[in-house]
Amino acid sequence: MAATRVLVVEDEESLATLLDYNLKREGFEVDIAGDGEEALLRVEERPPDIIILDWMLPKISGIEVCRRLRAEPETRNIPVVMLTARSEEADRVRGLDTGADDYMTKPFSTNELTARMRAVLRRIRPALAGEEVRAGDIRVDRTGHRVYRRDQEVHLGPTEFRLLDHLIQHPGRVFSREQLLNAVWGADSDVEVRTVDVHIGRLRKALTRNDESDPIRTVRSAGYSLDA
Ligand code: CA
Repeated sequence: MAATRVLVVEDEESLATLLDYNLKREGFEVDIAGDGEEALLRVEERPPDIIILDWMLPKISGIEVCRRLRAEPETRNIPVVMLTARSEEADRVRGLDTGADDYMTKPFSTNELTARMRAVLRRIRPALAGEEVRAGDIRVDRTGHRVYRRDQEVHLGPTEFRLLDHLIQHPGRVFSREQLLNAVWGADSDVEVRTVDVHIGRLRKALTRNDESDPIRTVRSAGYSLDA
């Protein structure tokens, strides 16, 4: 199972370095952005699984970054843990209003932060915490590599399994063909983008074998999403 990707947005270099070191040691894949503008670019390039977002940032503030992420369908569901040096209740509430999933007041321990991150991920993306994930009537048993729809086993090839496993972790989120290619075949593969369509077609066929509704939505010129 791929490591959970964290984007740390923090302009204080010493704290960014400390988080980078500690989160990597905890098994996360870490990317760092030093300001709000860079953060938004990184998210666009490669959406992370979770974002640790400092409140006070150069160029674009943490709150504004959060607001913009929440305004776009592609980034709306990425969990955000906000870091703040302020402890006033009003600010915390404002942070949560903006759409942050949790917040931490500086200074904090890395243990505390990772515990909060895991709690947020468990709440929002059960797949990262558990071995089984469901969306509607589809169930993926990640340990046994089995898929069920309405409790009937669905037989999938390994590529279709990886595709479904990726889509089901972010129900409703639209992935471009390039993003699916990177996630399923790896960024270094020389597989053509069209190949994604072929495997989506097979996945669709397998999931609708008993005349069930088609759970995969094709978004014209954008990509695919699982809307169970
Ligand atoms: Ca700061």
